[in-house]
Amino acid sequence: MHARIHNFNPGPAALPLPVLEEIQSSFLNFSGSGMSITEVSHRSKWFDAVIEDAIARTRRLLGIDQRFKVLFLQGGASMQFAMAPMNFAAAGQTVDYINTGTWSTKAIKEAEIQGKTVNVAASSEDRNFAYIPRELDLTPDAAYVHITSNNTIKGTQWAAFPDTAGVPLIADMSSDIMSRPFDAAPFGLIYAGAQKNIGPSGVCMVIVRDDLLARSPADIPTMLNYNTYADKNSMYNTPPCFAIYVVQLVLKWLEETVGGLAQMDALNRRKAGLIYDLVEQSEFYRGTADADSRSLMNVTFRLPSEDLEQRFVAQALENGLGGLKGHRSVGGCRASIYNASEMAAVEALVDYMRTFEQRNG
Ligand SMILES: *Cc1c(COP(=O)(O)O)cnc(C)c1O
Repeated sequence: MHARIHNFNPGPAALPLPVLEEIQSSFLNFSGSGMSITEVSHRSKWFDAVIEDAIARTRRLLGIDQRFKVLFLQGGASMQFAMAPMNFAAAGQTVDYINTGTWSTKAIKEAEIQGKTVNVAASSEDRNFAYIPRELDLTPDAAYVHITSNNTIKGTQWAAFPDTAGVPLIADMSSDIMSRPFDAAPFGLIYAGAQKNIGPSGVCMVIVRDDLLARSPADIPTMLNYNTYADKNSMYNTPPCFAIYVVQLVLKWLEETVGGLAQMDALNRRKAGLIYDLVEQSEFYRGTADADSRSLMNVTFRLPSEDLEQRFVAQALENGLGGLKGHRSVGGCRASIYNASEMAAVEALVDYMRTFEQRNG
């Protein structure tokens, strides 16, 4: 068997090694049950302890109060694109969206399919989404304002969230949830496919405020109504037990090993800083995102030619560095350095980048 590589995949992505080891050691006999976590009932005391602990840790890490429910849904972040407008926007009410890339564009499309009145309050499409827009044309009585907090593909991230003057913010935080502390109070809904920063694929974390829950119409399908999940603690039907278990372990690692979101943020800044510093000083590498909009999670950069980019990615893998190919809509290279990617992995990448430049620059 080959050694484990430094994994820079955009998603599913690297998980903390201690989490993988704990899964492995508990896999055949979970918590003294004599069964694997994949074999126990979701109505058992063993699974109950898992989901309650995951919820409690989410509350503590994000500092959210009882107005918020923490839910676990299937269908990924992509299903949230449809559920948010379905539940929270009444007919005739305007919904504001800020378009910062591929995922925002998909979210807008789902609201439009449902015939909602969509106001694109700002967009950075004019420069292939290389920046976060500053000027917003918000609707004062909008049902909500939807943003994508981190643009996984384009390599941009909201450094601070916009002031929406009391209109609830909705954020797709799939690729930066739990990467930094923030004030949750202005948010009505936060959702995140787990497979970037908090777990495996198959579960989407949803944090929803009670005043938005009260808006859901009665005539939408049961499984697309947030209240179904809120009323049954995410267990109206069988939840993705294994995925929730891994999320629980990641949150435990964040709290107990990393020490919380402030510590995580400090480490993430140091990691991203190493790569951005090199890119800034180099004539060879060129960042694709504006400096004031750069993501701490997905570092996107180009090389002088596509041929060099292909060689960069292929030789990286030979050196134990995987997942560095950029998304086809941006091209070039992307290093996804979520919470679980270690400083040592980033240092190895920066060393490799220096060597590659010396040999090819
Ligand atoms: C990956 C990603 C998605 C899509 O998530 P799925 O869980 O695959 O539906 C949506 N939004 C963002 C920001 C993402 O990074």
